[in-house]
Amino acid sequence: MADHDLTTALTELAYGCRILHMEGHADMTLGHLSLRDPDGRGVWLKRSGIGLGEVRDGGDFVLIDFSGKRLSGDGRLHKEWPIHTEIMRRRPDVIVAGHSHPFHATAFSAIEVELAAVTNEAVYLGGVPSRFSETTGLIDTPSLGESLADALGGASTVLMQNHGICFVGRDIASAVMMGLFLERACRSQLALLATGLAYTATAPGELAQKHDEIFDPGLIETFWAFFKRRADRVHNLH
Ligand SMILES: [Zn+2]
Repeated sequence: MADHDLTTALTELAYGCRILHMEGHADMTLGHLSLRDPDGRGVWLKRSGIGLGEVRDGGDFVLIDFSGKRLSGDGRLHKEWPIHTEIMRRRPDVIVAGHSHPFHATAFSAIEVELAAVTNEAVYLGGVPSRFSETTGLIDTPSLGESLADALGGASTVLMQNHGICFVGRDIASAVMMGLFLERACRSQLALLATGLAYTATAPGELAQKHDEIFDPGLIETFWAFFKRRADRVHNLH
């Protein structure tokens, strides 16, 4: 891939980080997003030590190979780099992977209630999130990364018990949007659960039809452009 195209892709990936920060995924300097290297060398991972909202451009990413060895870029490596390498190893369809600790989805990971489609966001996910409960600690070894990737399976999102979430996609916008949809879906259901009142959800049998109805082919691109405009207003990086 030409250097110019990679620079453009990493600039978009930096937008993804800032959008996540803006939309409830901020947790100090924690949380990360990665892009599969277009030339197959490994994974471009957000560097450690800065918050998602502080990621500016390609200079804030480190290229590591699939064993975690740095190939390019400055800055410290997040300890949980195996999340990205092991998911990418097992899911050839995944180009972008993220891990974050959004408030509502992380709280939701601690309760044994299945996510229900109480609002549209859970429908956009295209299925219920997987669950990972082997550990509530850091995913800092390839073997734990492998277990997490196994728990994710073919899904777009996984709830990591008492820890956070992972979300994946075939491009930057799709992956980031899955992270956003999951946090919003968990927020809605937690709000309803907290009232103690009975509530309804789209029936499982209607989910596929509703998904087709509301998930227009250009939906992700339209939402992505909306969030980029908003991020430009919210983050003054100049
Ligand atoms: Zn984490």
